[in-house]
Amino acid sequence: MRTLALLGAGGSIGSQCLDVVRRSGGAFCVTAMTMRSRAEELFRLAREFRPRVCGLVEEPEEIPADLREIEWFFGEDVNERVVEAARAQDVLAAVVGAAGLEASLAALRVSERLLLANKEALVTGGELVTGLAKELGKPILPVDSEHSAIFQCLRARDCNEPARLILTASGGPFRTWPKEKMYAAGVGDVLRHPTWNMGRKITVDCATMVNKGLEIIEARHLFDMPEEKIAVLVHPQSVVHSLVEFPDGCLLAQLGAPDMRAPIAYAMSFPGRMPDAGKKLDLAAVGTLTFEAPDPARFPALRLAREALRAGGTAPCIFNAANEIAVASFLREEIPFGEIVNIVEQTMQRVPSGNIRALADVREADGKARREAERVAAARR
Ligand code: NDP
Ligand code: MG
Repeated sequence: MRTLALLGAGGSIGSQCLDVVRRSGGAFCVTAMTMRSRAEELFRLAREFRPRVCGLVEEPEEIPADLREIEWFFGEDVNERVVEAARAQDVLAAVVGAAGLEASLAALRVSERLLLANKEALVTGGELVTGLAKELGKPILPVDSEHSAIFQCLRARDCNEPARLILTASGGPFRTWPKEKMYAAGVGDVLRHPTWNMGRKITVDCATMVNKGLEIIEARHLFDMPEEKIAVLVHPQSVVHSLVEFPDGCLLAQLGAPDMRAPIAYAMSFPGRMPDAGKKLDLAAVGTLTFEAPDPARFPALRLAREALRAGGTAPCIFNAANEIAVASFLREEIPFGEIVNIVEQTMQRVPSGNIRALADVREADGKARREAERVAAARR
């Protein structure tokens, strides 16, 4: 039995991870859980999984009597403190946003393996995370479906270097919408994703394709590939989860139903595979798989992500922070959908990027970018 600390236990990835644990026949024991604010939900999960350590960013009024033998932590640094107290073999980082960076670094220091769903950790502090993993000889197992696919395909590389990584993208709910209609899309339109059921923030990121931009940066760090060798291919059925191209032109792809439990279970069970981890794929029922190039005019987020990656240092962190602010503002219905990427672009122009020598450089750039993005967003309401 492997012990697991689950950060972000009540979210889309968190609940699917717990579903994998339930179906694993006792192969995993969740010894720690964190969430941000929904205390009642965490209490419910704690009663089912009986973790030894729990944490919430926002401290609740009281802890129910039957859960007081659990060691509790509260506050902004709750993930690091829970990881340190739990000392689980594996940590699944499934919190949303840049808060996952410190959590991921703590996981690498304390645990045997980091199972990473929180792509923002690699986007904001990729060099710090991969640098620490290398220094300590700890594996980072990707949970993001595209990166899990590439990780699996790369296991067949033998002695060959890949020529290109090809990230597939569903294209989101606005794949075929004209630009003007997209600009004015409402929160309801955005949250109706065609193939994946995910948390609100990443669902908005899929509609702008910022998510694919974040994933280009994530792939750059996970697989040590230069930006120009990471391509994006729109594939509306979300069946081919990504591909690797080798120098002879051969492509290897990983296919599966669009069900996050499969990549979650793969990371948890690696190098083994868990039987019946996700839904089975019936290719005959799917019938047709289609592919198309992304449209740079309607999805400028891809260009911005590549610019951030080429600029290096804190530029990707600025890209991410501005996006987090703009998405939150859109979800509060303060700005039109079409302004999200405009706010990201303006913030990138206004906040100069610098080198990353330590975590403090990331946090400073993140704070500056958030404050500037708030100003830009306020002017666009
Ligand atoms: P959700 O919004 O559904 O869930 C996030 C969870 O994390 C919630 O339980 C939330 O608590 C908790 N949380 C948020 N901030 C903190 C914090 N600072 N400390 C502790 N807990 C926190 O997000 P998703 O599950 O959709 O996404 C999680 C991560 O995985 C993101 O980085 C996303 O990009 C990535 N990812 C998600 C995929 C998906 O299918 N959902 C696919 C690939 C990657 P509370 O409920 O109390 O607010
Ligand atoms: Mg993904």
